[in-house]
Amino acid sequence: SAIIAPRCTYSTSKASEKCPHIMAGRPKRGKILENALEKVGDTPMIRIKHIAQEEGLECELLAKCEFFNAGGSIKDRIAVRMVEDAEASGRIKPGDTLIEPTSGNTGIGLALACAIKGYRCIITLPEKMSKEKILEPWVLTSPLRDRIDIVVVACGACVHVAKLWFLSGLEQTLFSTRILGNPLPPPPEGMYANISNPMAHYENTAEEILEQCDGQVDMLVVAAGTGGTLTGVGRKLKERCPDVVLVGVDPVGSILALPEHLNDEGRLSSYKVEGIGYDFIPTVLDRNLADLWVKSNDKESFMMSRRLIREEGLLCGGSSGAAVYAAVEEAKRQRLGPGKRCVVILADSVRNYMTKYLSDEWMYEQGFAATCSQGRRVAHEP
Ligand code: PMP
Repeated sequence: SAIIAPRCTYSTSKASEKCPHIMAGRPKRGKILENALEKVGDTPMIRIKHIAQEEGLECELLAKCEFFNAGGSIKDRIAVRMVEDAEASGRIKPGDTLIEPTSGNTGIGLALACAIKGYRCIITLPEKMSKEKILEPWVLTSPLRDRIDIVVVACGACVHVAKLWFLSGLEQTLFSTRILGNPLPPPPEGMYANISNPMAHYENTAEEILEQCDGQVDMLVVAAGTGGTLTGVGRKLKERCPDVVLVGVDPVGSILALPEHLNDEGRLSSYKVEGIGYDFIPTVLDRNLADLWVKSNDKESFMMSRRLIREEGLLCGGSSGAAVYAAVEEAKRQRLGPGKRCVVILADSVRNYMTKYLSDEWMYEQGFAATCSQGRRVAHEP
């Protein structure tokens, strides 16, 4: 494929030379892109101006806007990377079936990659997830509809496919026990992990951030799901900016934060922000890499997402609000002064949540807004 850079030709800095993994390097794009997958990565860094001013921040608040990826989220990066790494190692070839249980965004990225590269694709996702995430891969790939099967876990769907390739060990185990009813042997890359996930961020997302910030990042705030972003970006930034403060964000109800007692309040309770938090610790998440963890809650997260849309024109999802809320609080608490840079990752697009946090009625029903505007949009509580 046009976007696979040759192996082992990455020009490394001193710090990254220590990394034991294969370096694929950042791809070079032509003026005309060969296909939509080349519109994955190289996302813009945009200043969050009004919210920073209103909150009295002295530092710069900068958003790495991952909703500009072709499939609408940061997970496009890992979907493409997992497929291309599996192709490069000879484990898969076009015509095979790839299967991935996901909170939605990886599925959208994967559906896109499979449609373009010619794989069959099965995506499973929990019932909680927005119906937009279920519909989108169909819409995006409608000419290739027969290549995509969407299976909703809660429907107890039965799947029979001759040749299944699971892209991540963690998700293979979940899928095989919940759907197939019996465990499958671990994939070649080992249980509970796919190194392509953090590596996509270590090699690409982090390099982009460093380039966009001229190598100066004083604080990085990342909301964690699998933790691939936090681990990959965080590790590279710690190598290049040793004084960077890495802040992990984890919703109340999840158990990813450290120290453990932070997870006590509302432990394993449900929450509405999608794509972040887990009830187990994914192997690709290096929890100790974060200097500190902040617990987020639904209401503050969604309200901040609405402010990001209304005041900054950033059409992001709910986990972005969680990350920005935490960034504002932490930048204030640590008194990040003038000339300092705080970078926040905005992981996905509002497109996934038109019937959820973008809807005043939904916000009201969930108790996140005090009033319901009945058709007139309210961005803030009175
Ligand atoms: N936000 C959203 C909306 C996501 O879908 C995800 C991925 N689950 C994340 C944040 C977290 O990314 P990661 O899996 O790399 O921790």
